Amino acid sequence: MASYEFVDHEYDVVVVGAGGSGLRAALGAAREGLKVACVTKVFPTRSHTVAAQGGISASLGNMGEDSWKWHMYDTVKGSDWLGDQDAIEYLVREAPKAVYELEHWGVPFSRTEEGKIYQRAFGGMTKNYGEGPVQRTCAAADRTGHAILHTLYGQSVRREVKFFVEYFALDLIMQDQASGPAACTGVTALQLDTGQLHRFRAKMVILATGGYGRAYFSATSAHTCTGDGNAMVLRAGLPLQDMEFVQFHPTGIYGAGCLITEGARGEGGYLTNSEGERFMERYAPSAKDLASRDVVSRSMTIEIREGRGVGPNKDHIFLHLDHLDPKVLHQRLPGISESAKIFAGVDVTRAPIPVLPTVHYNMGGIPTNYHGEVLTKAGDDGSVVVPGLMAVGEAACVSVHGANRLGSNSLTDLVVFGRAAGLRAGEVVDKASKVPDAPASATDAHVARLDRFRNASGSTPTAELRLSMQRAMQSDAAVFRTGKTLDEGVAKLRAIDDAIGDIRVTDRGMIWNTDLIETLEYDNLIAQAAVTIESAANRKESRGAHAREDFPDRDDVNWMKHTLAWKTPGQRVKIDYRAVHDFTLTDEIDYIKPKARVY
Ligand SMILES: Cc1cc2nc3c(=O)[nH]c(=O)nc-3n(C[C@H](O)[C@H](O)[C@H](O)COP(=O)(O)OP(=O)(O)OC[C@H]3O[C@@H](n4cnc5c(N)ncnc54)[C@H](O)[C@@H]3O)c2cc1C
Repeated sequence: MASYEFVDHEYDVVVVGAGGSGLRAALGAAREGLKVACVTKVFPTRSHTVAAQGGISASLGNMGEDSWKWHMYDTVKGSDWLGDQDAIEYLVREAPKAVYELEHWGVPFSRTEEGKIYQRAFGGMTKNYGEGPVQRTCAAADRTGHAILHTLYGQSVRREVKFFVEYFALDLIMQDQASGPAACTGVTALQLDTGQLHRFRAKMVILATGGYGRAYFSATSAHTCTGDGNAMVLRAGLPLQDMEFVQFHPTGIYGAGCLITEGARGEGGYLTNSEGERFMERYAPSAKDLASRDVVSRSMTIEIREGRGVGPNKDHIFLHLDHLDPKVLHQRLPGISESAKIFAGVDVTRAPIPVLPTVHYNMGGIPTNYHGEVLTKAGDDGSVVVPGLMAVGEAACVSVHGANRLGSNSLTDLVVFGRAAGLRAGEVVDKASKVPDAPASATDAHVARLDRFRNASGSTPTAELRLSMQRAMQSDAAVFRTGKTLDEGVAKLRAIDDAIGDIRVTDRGMIWNTDLIETLEYDNLIAQAAVTIESAANRKESRGAHAREDFPDRDDVNWMKHTLAWKTPGQRVKIDYRAVHDFTLTDEIDYIKPKARVY
């Protein structure tokens, strides 16, 4: 093996990822007086959060009465009762504070006539425990994520967070402890433009690496969404939670896959089939086009399957905005009007947009408590904290979204739990203590993995394996699932996983080696794809985004539990469970009991 030297860094806190959650956590830790580094593979404002369109939910009540209790009910129901209710209570109660904080830091929200933050309707967001739609989603036109990300980056620079931009994090430095699980004491990274290796030693590592939508063929997420942090956790021998729950957004542009925000339906847009029928009225008589995403995606899929799809192949659906006032479109939805023009060639003031359910969000991820601390299972206890490790944002599974996330609850999750992690780091990190050492034995495997891929001389290019994985996931872990396709999917994914020994990388250099980086990302994706499909095959019920045709009903007796899944390199997936929290944070609200989920 060639020799690789590390450059060493010491920080109180190292955040991996500079999306909304990573920046909010870094900013929070810096505000606690900690010395903070933020390591990111793309420039902070290019993180996928920049693409968030519709908005951020919080019960401000600017556009009619609202209450955190209604928001809590909606989120629990949206999660199909898989969400942990203590964490959900924390989310919805902190949401208004988090939004006002963003406003004060400079996020240019759209305004009402009286100058208050503008709020729009979104799927599954209701008043009075499901009675009718409420306007709860705070928006900066249809560029909310863009506005938030730029503001948080500016604030982080002001607080002297040290950024390491275009550094690709490789693996977690883990060290055994006298008792309890191994502790995380840092992270290794490859500097992309020089090929230099770095060792960031820290008292706390916060993973904020986002989702892994790119395990699928068609996704609304950026090509950088490869879930690297999730895979680092798996390689460290720790579990991921609820990975079978993958959200399909009803309105990805047909063909291109890019997103048309749910805000379009929030502003009055609706879906039609080949008969021109507004079919959502049949599936969700009350919420109609604003039912939650899993429900709308399934309804569209049924329409297409039953021959009522639009277009020459009857394989997609129309989204109408052409009845709306062009002034509203211009003011509230300028970005998606442009996307529809570029990617579908459609003028939204005159014609409907061709759309199809497209992979959009990962409910599953790294298990944490509502402070952001990573959990693992030891003995019968599913909730032992891993020392030195936190996770936030789409990478984490707190779990507030359970089996299905409501639109606009993710941006809230980023800032509420990013803030919580910063505060917790302030409590548990001892500024006076020495930064832990990292013996070479703790990083040897990181270097060996890099070196193996750099010199991989098999016969299958990375792109080929990646395409096989993406196609298998798209067809076998789809909107609807059955035992047969899932079992086929498991077999395909195992074969693809085994083929990694035959992978071919052609660039042997260290400087801007995109061939190598794509291979490391693919290796991260395939582990998560395997965990996703095996967890899906294992869960024999339908809940939220996991819709099994062979088990059409939710089964609270046997399956009201979180899946935990482990997968270390070269090993098959191992599955166990964690209890769902059936308690709230305070006695100001009671546990919301499960019932049938209709919209
Ligand atoms: C098109 C689109 C629109 C959306 N609209 C909304 C919306 O309106 N409302 C809403 O609530 N939610 C929305 N969502 C969901 C929400 O935007 C995302 O869940 C959220 O932005 C994820 O933020 P994050 O901080 O977890 O990660 P990201 O923003 O994805 O950032 C990940 C960060 O991790 C870094 N990183 C990853 N791997 C590595 C590595 N190996 N080394 C170093 N750095 C690494 C990246 O550089 C990046 O900085 C939308 C999602 C999409 C795709």
